[in-house]
Amino acid sequence: MKEYLETLDDTAWGAASDVVPKFVSPSDPAAQWTGAHKGPAFFAYSDNYLIDVKFGVIVDVEASRSIRQAEVGAARTMIERTEERFGLKPERLIGDTAYGAAPMLNWLVEEKGIAPHIPVFDKSQRDDGTFSRSDFRYDPTSDVYHCPGGKRLGTSGTVHEGKTLLYRASKLDCNACLLKPQCCPKEPSRKIPRDIHEHARDVARSLAGTKGFERSRHERKKIEMRFAHLKRILKLGRLRLRGPRGAQDEFVLAAIAQNLRRLASLVARPPPAQALCTA
Ligand code: SF4
Repeated sequence: MKEYLETLDDTAWGAASDVVPKFVSPSDPAAQWTGAHKGPAFFAYSDNYLIDVKFGVIVDVEASRSIRQAEVGAARTMIERTEERFGLKPERLIGDTAYGAAPMLNWLVEEKGIAPHIPVFDKSQRDDGTFSRSDFRYDPTSDVYHCPGGKRLGTSGTVHEGKTLLYRASKLDCNACLLKPQCCPKEPSRKIPRDIHEHARDVARSLAGTKGFERSRHERKKIEMRFAHLKRILKLGRLRLRGPRGAQDEFVLAAIAQNLRRLASLVARPPPAQALCTA
């Protein structure tokens, strides 16, 4: 319990989410009740790795609660710790859409200068035939959107729900516009929401589809192989120790075992083929 209370302010634990879990284990309260893996729900911890994809070596390990926000918090912890301990900072970070939340992308792009090779989940696309946000052009110099009818949408600068700016068209412009049925048929004028960290999302979007991004997608398989190996070969489907510290210790030991195997395979390469044919 003492260990659980100590982790409440940590981004990989209690501070990751203020949602009250459905069930709390009385003997291990930091473990997360999860049904995310299909089948019956159970108490779990997440094992997070920071991997050098060039050599397939695990650079850092962090246990966290088994919720996405906590896993993203663990990624930040590992990136900062690796920089602090080894002076290593990745040029790019490969991750799935869970790491594409605007605050995480902003942290990577603006604070750390790391290229996010992360797909951005875009909910702004409309499927009712009206214009989507992508039909409006953003001008960063004037901080306005230009609509398909050639008008400007400006913002008052008020941040809604702590994360969104609203860019509004003038009612006069929209009333007189022939495109209104395709734009805002049920509203007096059109408004476009924009996340305060949208610039970082734009950077991530601009990288998607590039050669480097495709290479990163391919390299992600090395990460998935590490986790498959953990479960199938090292049989780490169940922890023997309790609490965040117990989970961390077991995950670190498993990562050491995996790194030793990897280093052995890197060092002990088979002799060149022609040497085998000289007999
Ligand atoms: S309805 Fe308004 S926002 Fe939409 S295209 Fe016309 S002027 Fe622009």
